[in-house]
Amino acid sequence: MGANYQAELVGVFGQPVAENPTGVMQEAAFAAAGLNWRYLTIEVPPDRLADAVRGMRAFGMQGINLTIPHKVAVMPYLDEVAPDAQIIGAVNTVRREGDRYIGENTDGKGFLRGVREDAGVDPAGKRVVMLGAGGAARAVATELALAGASRIVVVNRTVQRGAAMVEDLRANTGADVQFAAWEGTYTVPADTDIFVNATSIGLYPDVDAMPDVDLGAARDGMLVCDVVFNPPRTPLVKAAKARGLPVLDGLSMLVYQGVIGFELWTGQPAPEAVMKQVLREALGV
Ligand code: NDP
Repeated sequence: MGANYQAELVGVFGQPVAENPTGVMQEAAFAAAGLNWRYLTIEVPPDRLADAVRGMRAFGMQGINLTIPHKVAVMPYLDEVAPDAQIIGAVNTVRREGDRYIGENTDGKGFLRGVREDAGVDPAGKRVVMLGAGGAARAVATELALAGASRIVVVNRTVQRGAAMVEDLRANTGADVQFAAWEGTYTVPADTDIFVNATSIGLYPDVDAMPDVDLGAARDGMLVCDVVFNPPRTPLVKAAKARGLPVLDGLSMLVYQGVIGFELWTGQPAPEAVMKQVLREALGV
C-alpha cells in the first residue's frame, strides 16, 4: 500500500481565539488514538465568517468548533441544525456527513455528561436552580430540560433576557421552567438538587468575583456546578466545598464538550483521560 500523508482537518473559528485551549486537548486525543488529524485554531472576524465556512467546505474539513462571536451567526451557512441546537439557538460544533455540514451544540451535552459521569448524578426528576440567561445558560438549561429535570428556576440579573429564555424553554421543551428576578442576595431554596452558575461571574480576570447567592439553606448533597473554567476553582466552587457540598467545575463541561466533538467527528470513543490531563496541564491546575 502507498503512503498516505493527507491529514483530516477540524478546528475552531473565533475572535479572539488565541487562548482557546480546545486545540491542545483535541490534538493530544488524535495522537493518543493514532489518528492523522489536525485541529486548527483560526481567528475569523465576523465579516469573514461566510468565507471561512466556504473554506471549510473547500478543504473538506471533518468539522469545526465555533466560539465567540460566531455561534449564532454560523447557523444560516449550514445544511442542517440539530433539534436541540435549534432550541438553544446556537451552534458550537459542526460535523460533516458526506457533503453536508450539520450544526450541533455540545456545550449543554458536555455539561450533562459531566453531571452524570463526574458527579454521578442523573438529572431526571431533579430540581434545578440556574444563574444566567446567556449562551452557556441556554445550552445547559435546554439539555437539563430535555433530560427530564422536574423543575428549572432561572435566575438572571436582566429580567427581560431571563424571562425571554424561560418562555422559549417552556414552549420548546414543555418543561417546568420558572423565572426568578435576581435582586440583592438570592437565597438558594432548600429543596434544590442541582445549582448551576451559568454566568461569567468568576471568569478571569475577575477571579475573586462570587455570585451574590446564599447557600446557607441548601440541603446536604446539593450539587454545585460552575461553567466558568478559567480558573476552575472559582470563589463559588471554593465556597461550596467549604460548605461540604459536592461540586462540578467548568473543566468538566469543557472536557466533555470536546469528548463529544471528538466522537461526532471521528466516530470513535474519545480518550477521555488523556483529554482531561492535557487540559488540566494547559490551564495549570
Ligand atoms: P453571555 O455573555 O452570553 O452571558 C453572560 C451571563 O452572565 C448573562 O446571563 C449575564 O446576565 C450574566 N452576568 C455576567 N456578569 C454578571 C454580573 N456581574 N452579575 C450578574 N449576572 C452577570 O456569556 P456565555 O453564556 O457565553 O458565557 C458564560 C460563561 O460560561 C463564561 O464564563 C464562559 O467562559 C463559560 N462557558 C464555559 C463553557 C465550558 O465548557 N465550561 C462553555 C461555554 C461557556 P445579564 O443577562 O443580566 O447580562
